[in-house]
Formats: sequence, structure tokens, C-alpha cells
Amino acid sequence: MKFAKRIDRIQPSATLAMTSKAAEMRAQGIDVLNMSVGEPDFNTPEHIIEAAKFAMENGHTRYTPGAGTTDLKKAIQNKLQRDNNLEYKLDEIIVSCGGKHSLYNACQVLFEKNDEVIIFTPYWVSFPDFVSVTGAKPIFVNTDPDKQYEPVFEDLESKITKNTKGIIINSPSNPTGGVWSDEAIKRTIEIAKSHSLWVFSDECYEQLTYDNPFKSIFTICSDYERILTFQSCSKTYAMTGWRIGYTCGDQAVIKAMSKLQGQSTSCPNSIAQFAACEALSGDQSFVHEMRSAFKKRRDIIVNRLNAIPGVKCDSPGGAFYVFPNFKEIINRNLDGNIVKSALDLCLMLLEKKSVVSVSGESFGAEHNIRFSYATSESVIDDAMNRLEALVKEIC
Ligand code: PLP
Repeated sequence: MKFAKRIDRIQPSATLAMTSKAAEMRAQGIDVLNMSVGEPDFNTPEHIIEAAKFAMENGHTRYTPGAGTTDLKKAIQNKLQRDNNLEYKLDEIIVSCGGKHSLYNACQVLFEKNDEVIIFTPYWVSFPDFVSVTGAKPIFVNTDPDKQYEPVFEDLESKITKNTKGIIINSPSNPTGGVWSDEAIKRTIEIAKSHSLWVFSDECYEQLTYDNPFKSIFTICSDYERILTFQSCSKTYAMTGWRIGYTCGDQAVIKAMSKLQGQSTSCPNSIAQFAACEALSGDQSFVHEMRSAFKKRRDIIVNRLNAIPGVKCDSPGGAFYVFPNFKEIINRNLDGNIVKSALDLCLMLLEKKSVVSVSGESFGAEHNIRFSYATSESVIDDAMNRLEALVKEIC
């Protein structure tokens, strides 16, 4: 069957594919350790669930304004002030069905054929597709793995052309966990500013930084108005399935995104919006507890990885991923078969040791594998034992 060309410009999500592979293997009774998960392994806190129940029982079950309820926009406004020192008016905020939806809508509003959009490698799998589906071209810029994957600035400057329209920043990053320094952010924004580029700051992991407090990009460069900030309830409150994310920034862009959203999804889920008010405004102790748990797990997994000969893993400053480099292991062989790539290694780990991970190729990095540590310490330990055993078998 022939579909519209735009659908051929995008790929299925590699991370979702690995998650369903893990579910399939588990259904066959295999003892699978899933290190590919892109969501906290905690339950949504009880007070947020209670708010959702209240919403259902008290008639908050109808369409809401397309860009989100005023109550939720006010809760977001207060949260941005409280946690990020950001000041936005209500008409500079839109609520969407997850941060992903917000990012998608913003790309639709701002980019089109002949535009180019800068994406830093390794990138979250969805960024190139958000850009490609608009007809614009993703342009990949290298980063430095020894510096929390900050940009290689010479590469960034050399890739900007008269067609460059935007630049997508994701710090803390999926897949690397890298957190950029203020200096790297300032330098990037200076470059963006000198070419009047739209800057997308995907801050969906903003509450998960372990070495330094998080700073929202707009607070570092508040004199540049073309910065759009994207945040989400998904990772912060273990609410991935509730689908609430939001964008703040230029009022005209927010208005255009609202128009698009009104004609596509109508509005975000009314019950989830009510619960998100409680998430953002209520007790925040869950966020602190989750952050401490993740920090401990990060330290465990980074130590375990670096203890495996041939594996190199810098300590990422945030999110819940590590992105070790296996360059020394690639091209060695296992039972007479050459390990040709990170994908090969990832599949061997799956087939021989039942550990699910995501190979770096999906994120534009050929020597790396992404492991998520959004899982218990015992699973991390067991998975690292299995990886260590596999690497020992490779010679
Ligand atoms: N941005 C990044 C970098 C992500 O990793 C994700 C989810 O994995 C999202 C955005 C979107 O999250 P959500 O749509 O659940 O808010």
C-alpha cells in the first residue's frame, strides 16, 4: 500500500521495540533482565492517584481547554517559579499529552521543507523523526564523551548554514545522561543567537541531576527570547502513562501549538491534568527520594562497568541512563563469530544472557550501548554479572 511520503521519513522507536522484545521473552518464561526501560520503576505517588480518583468522582471528566486547564497552567507557572526560577504568563504555557507531544507540535509549528535543525549526537531517538516528519532535515553535530557530551563547538559552527532554523538541546540527556556545564550552554546559545535560531530545551529529566543542581537554560540565557522550554510530569513523578508534559516560551509559538493541538488531540486527558496539578503543587518528597535512589544506582552501575576490562563509562550527571563505550570489545570474537558492532554485542547480550539493552546505533553512536538503571539494585547487579561473564567469553 502506498502511504503519504511523510510516514516514510520516520522510523519506529528503537527503545520501544526493545521494551516489547523484553515483554515477549518474559511471556515465554525466560528470566529476562530489562535494562532498556525509559521510565522510573517507582509507582506514581499515592497523593497523585488520590487526586485522579477525586477528579473522576467529581466530574473532571470532560473536554478541557485545548492548551490545558487554567488550574494546571497556574500550577506549572508556580512550579517553574519555585524549581527553576522561571517567570511565564499563562498564555506562554501549553499543556500537551506528554513532553513528546509538545516537542512534536513545536517542530510542526516552526520547521518545514528546506529547513535544517541541529541535533547533538548521541541523540534521543525521537528528535530526528520529529524534524524529518516536517520535511526539514536533521543535521547532526558531534559531542565530547569526556565532557558530559557537550558540543564539539567547531563542528557546531561548521554545520550552521543559511537554512538552519533550530537547535535541540537535551540536558540531562537521553541516552548519555550527560549534563552540560553553564559555559557550554552559554556558548551554544550565543551561537544560536547570532543566527536567530529557535532553541528547544528538552528538560524532561530536570529533576534528576546528581552532582550539581539543575539550571534551566532560559535562566542562564534569559536575554534570548527564542528559547522554548519543554518539561514533563513523566519522569519526575513516575507518571509516564498519564501523558502530561508542557512547553513554555514565546506567546505566538504557544498560540500556534495550541491551534494545532486543538485540531488534533482536542486537549490532554482531563483526569491526568487534575492529577498533574497535585503532582506539581503537592508534597515533593517523592522526587527527592527517587533522586537519591537513582544516584546510588548510578554509582553502582558506573563502578561495575568500569571494572569490566575493555569497557569505559564516564559518570553521567543526570537522567537514569549510562552509555558505556565498548570500542575495545568490538571486532573481537565469540565462539568464532566476530562482534561487528554495538548492535551485535547488544543482541549477544540478549540471546546469550537475556539482558535487554539498547545499542548505540539507534542514538547515532556506534560503539556504545545504553543501559537504564531505572530498575532495582539487585537487577543491576545481576545484569552486570551477566555482562561481565559475556565480555569474558569474548576474546
Ligand atoms: N525527551 C526525552 C529526552 C525523553 O527521553 C523522553 C521520554 O523518554 C521524552 C522527552 C518524552 O517524555 P514524555 O512524552 O513521557 O513526557
